[in-house]
Amino acid sequence: MSYQRPKGTNDILPGESNKWQFVEETARLVFSDYQYQEIRTPIFEHYEVIARSVGDTTDIVSKEMYDFHDKGERHVTLRPEGTAPIVRAYVENKLFGPEFKKPYKVYYTGPMFRYERPQKGRLRQFHQIGVEAFGSENPSLDVEVMAMAMDFFKQLGINQLRLVINTLGDKETRSNYRQALIEYLEAHEAELSEDSKRRLHENPLRVLDSKDRKDQPVVADAPSILDYLSDYAKKYFEGVTKTLEYLNIPYEIDHRMVRGLDYYNHTIFEIMSDAPGMGAQTTICGGGRYDGLVEELGGPETPGIGFAMGIERILLTLEQEDVMVPDATNLDAYVVGLGEATNMETLKVVQAIRGFGFSADRDFMGRKAKAQFKTADKEGAKLVLTLGEDELANGVINVKDSATREEKAFPLADLYENFAAIYDEMTAPKFD
Ligand code: ATP
Ligand code: MG
Repeated sequence: MSYQRPKGTNDILPGESNKWQFVEETARLVFSDYQYQEIRTPIFEHYEVIARSVGDTTDIVSKEMYDFHDKGERHVTLRPEGTAPIVRAYVENKLFGPEFKKPYKVYYTGPMFRYERPQKGRLRQFHQIGVEAFGSENPSLDVEVMAMAMDFFKQLGINQLRLVINTLGDKETRSNYRQALIEYLEAHEAELSEDSKRRLHENPLRVLDSKDRKDQPVVADAPSILDYLSDYAKKYFEGVTKTLEYLNIPYEIDHRMVRGLDYYNHTIFEIMSDAPGMGAQTTICGGGRYDGLVEELGGPETPGIGFAMGIERILLTLEQEDVMVPDATNLDAYVVGLGEATNMETLKVVQAIRGFGFSADRDFMGRKAKAQFKTADKEGAKLVLTLGEDELANGVINVKDSATREEKAFPLADLYENFAAIYDEMTAPKFD
């Protein structure tokens, strides 16, 4: 009997995991420059937390939840996204209190779960890196958040990007626009897909987000939310666009962009990859403002803004743009042991080297000398140490610098005393 991983999931194997680390480490570095700190919340939440935040009529909640009743009959779900859990944690831990910095800035990374139709760049267990900033309603913060995402992609070496923005306005904007949209969609109801016919009455904005080909012509001519903005929403959006221009950050406005979660208002944005070969999934980052969500989950009136990026799609983009991911593996020393008698001493030597803070490895497979030297070379060991039975008897070890091929024997006692000195002596630049 042999088993396969669940549909829509991946094993991230060595060779691939170093790319993940590169992406995650770059995010940590960039986000910490912007004073964001990491937050970790549970992988599962009460169903209500997600349903209330993301919205009952969204695809995520109505079709894609990995929810179940646990043995205590609690209705829980694997988290489909990061914002709702963090808002829940923000309220539960009273992070709005006066002792906390404002805006309160956090980032997260981890797996998310959605029961979707798996395809390139679309999985059932996928991974996001995201950020949230609570407590400020200032267009400059919206722009800082977008700039940080762009900065992160630049640090990764991704260049073919587009920042697309829109506004969903405030409550007043939404209700004016909703009315106009319903009227328009009702006039075209017969042309809509079955899903969109249902959405039209439940949540008309969702029709604009439809991926169904059939809906595209109707969506293309739909009224623009930009024509229904309240004075405040208009002023806020202008604040954002002017600030983007002031900072020379290129952007486009797509008045049909709505995003797949109900909690958004005012500024929303997506970052798309224009790299060829991305397939249908080109959005690598999506985010926006969610003023009102903290209250919705029982907290005080608190504005918020954030984004989430799909790590799998970022990796696809890196591949499509031929970005060389730096190889993190690094081997300072490989210890070749010749003959069974050296087996124990060789382990003592690698352990000592590691104890001095260097990376080291040895053979465990009883390979012949030639094969061991080959391994040392393949792994890029800077120093190759050789311990044969004669050396062992004389208490010495042979050390070779792979770059210069220079060799020298050292007393084993010296190595145990201070390997760093041997390393420095062997690898120091030589001038003749
Ligand atoms: P899409 O429109 O592609 O379904 P979405 O609007 O549902 O995306 P968000 O919920 O905003 O996506 O999530 C933010 C980011 O997470 C997306 O831009 C994408 O990079 C990534 N993402 C979302 N769903 C998946 C998935 N099923 N598989 C892989 N990545 C995903
Ligand atoms: Mg989606």
